[in-house]
Amino acid sequence: MRYSQLLLPTLKETPAEAEVISHKLLLRAGFIRKLTSGVYSYLPLGLAAIRKVEKIVREEMGNGGAQEVLLPMVQPADLWIESGRWEKYGPELLRFKDRHDRESCLGPTHEEVITDLVRREIHSYRGLPLNLYQIQTKFRDEIRPRFGLMRGREFIMKDGYSFDATEEEANKTYETMHYAYHRVFTRCGLKFRAVEADTGTIGGSFSHEFMVLADTGEDTLVICKKCTYAANMEKAAAMPPAPPVQEPALLPLEKRETPGKRKVEAVTEFLAISPRNLVKTMVYLADGKPVAVLVRGDHEVQPVKLKNALGAMEVELADDKQVFDATGVPTGYLGPIGLNIRVVADREVAVLRNFVVGANEKNFHCLNANLGRDFEVEKIADLRMVTAEDRCPVCGAELELTRGIEVGHIFKLGTSYSEALNAKFLDSEGKEQHFIMGCYGIGVSRTVAAAIEQNHDKDGIIFPLPLAPFQVILLNLSPNDEAITGAAEELYRAFRKEGVEVLLDDRDERPGSKFKDADLIGIPYRVMVGKSFANQGLIEIRNRATGETTSLPFGEVVAGVAATIRAALAAVGG
Ligand code: ATP
Ligand code: MG
Repeated sequence: MRYSQLLLPTLKETPAEAEVISHKLLLRAGFIRKLTSGVYSYLPLGLAAIRKVEKIVREEMGNGGAQEVLLPMVQPADLWIESGRWEKYGPELLRFKDRHDRESCLGPTHEEVITDLVRREIHSYRGLPLNLYQIQTKFRDEIRPRFGLMRGREFIMKDGYSFDATEEEANKTYETMHYAYHRVFTRCGLKFRAVEADTGTIGGSFSHEFMVLADTGEDTLVICKKCTYAANMEKAAAMPPAPPVQEPALLPLEKRETPGKRKVEAVTEFLAISPRNLVKTMVYLADGKPVAVLVRGDHEVQPVKLKNALGAMEVELADDKQVFDATGVPTGYLGPIGLNIRVVADREVAVLRNFVVGANEKNFHCLNANLGRDFEVEKIADLRMVTAEDRCPVCGAELELTRGIEVGHIFKLGTSYSEALNAKFLDSEGKEQHFIMGCYGIGVSRTVAAAIEQNHDKDGIIFPLPLAPFQVILLNLSPNDEAITGAAEELYRAFRKEGVEVLLDDRDERPGSKFKDADLIGIPYRVMVGKSFANQGLIEIRNRATGETTSLPFGEVVAGVAATIRAALAAVGG
């Protein structure tokens, strides 16, 4: 491809609308343009990077025994009503009526459609296992579409669905997909971790998220420094606390004035105690009903753990008014003693003795409170966020908290959808069984954004070679010089013949601006035909990632660069 003919509108200034680095660079590098909120057009280079991800995904899905299909984007409401999700899905599901007044929606995901297809076509265990996937545009009416391709309303996803006859086979399929995902992100050239993810309340299921490691990621991951344990915050288990080595004497409960001290810091400073010796009382609404949650002053409630412990569909933190309406106590002074609503406690609270709690009265706290003596709780469970001070629940080593971007998600669903949609087959004994399902998603467009979040510098994108829209950018640094132009054209032909993906910058621009654009769009190898060719017959090659520049005689350039590219791709299993 010739730069002079390419639609590649790079920008000098960062558009004001962009907050995160990948969004800024995708716009500046001329990869995408916004049509409307959360909806983007992919320009040639943006699409080329997406196609790279898709190709790797297709190859690895194929290796994992999955077959490609393409399902409709418009889905009838009936199927969603059958699965129960028409009610549950919420406003992210874009619903509309057609001219016959039939309710429909744009597919945010395809469990219903695929289960319907399979229940119609597969009637016997002989048709199993079956693993189908598609690469398609999804629509989710996200509440805050932002960050460009990271969280769009319209985006490209690979979604796959497996159907198995037995638990054992379903687990095997899950392992195969786990491995396929591992291969996909390795071959993309990305640093990533697979982490255990929450599965909500579906029984017999498990799930992993594939996270691209990047400081700018929205999600926090908990990683063991020693073993392979890794989990997201919602799932990361805290080690059960050790009971006190020596039971301390329980001191008498004492009410103390703490004027205007509402926050943990203010109260503990005023009382000259550690936040570890204070228990805060947080009020949540679980499916609309208030429940008080006790955690230590230095800990935070993890809402998903709370939701699972309560068996609730939804939990949200109550605001000040809701707290007051439910308890009659202003926030900041709440405590479990004599409280009129349900109370649950984190496990750490259960091993604490003589701690401080709110006195359920404005400007007062209680000292030396003790669970079992002064108040009771309905349930004790792991309800808090893990912190960097926690230990690995598997091996006991130190943990590390790092940030990541979810690019893939695999989920053993079990029979939740096949039961809801009554999708059955006859097993080898002629008995009717529900299909055991799994679902497997990859955010294809988000993967390109995540690659940029992980790999960039002040000058622009640093594409991992496997995802780069071109492998080589060939700069003609003197388009008005015949010898140099002749040499650049010859290299261009030779690269193409060698199968190298090359972009020839043949524009009549100054070298400085060609360097800038080349850095911005992040092509891994920059091959320059300029003065050193005219003087010594040498061609300079610059590595975008390392900044290293080497020179090769004209005749060795194509073979040399092609060999480097092959070796680099082989190194990530490509
Ligand atoms: P998130 O928690 O980030 O909202 P999700 O858990 O809702 O994502 P899944 O239903 O698991 O997403 O979808 C599979 C994959 O699709 C995700 O792992 C992610 O990479 C991608 N994805 C989901 N929502 C978006 C979006 N709004 N824009 C771009 N990619 C997305
Ligand atoms: Mg997910």
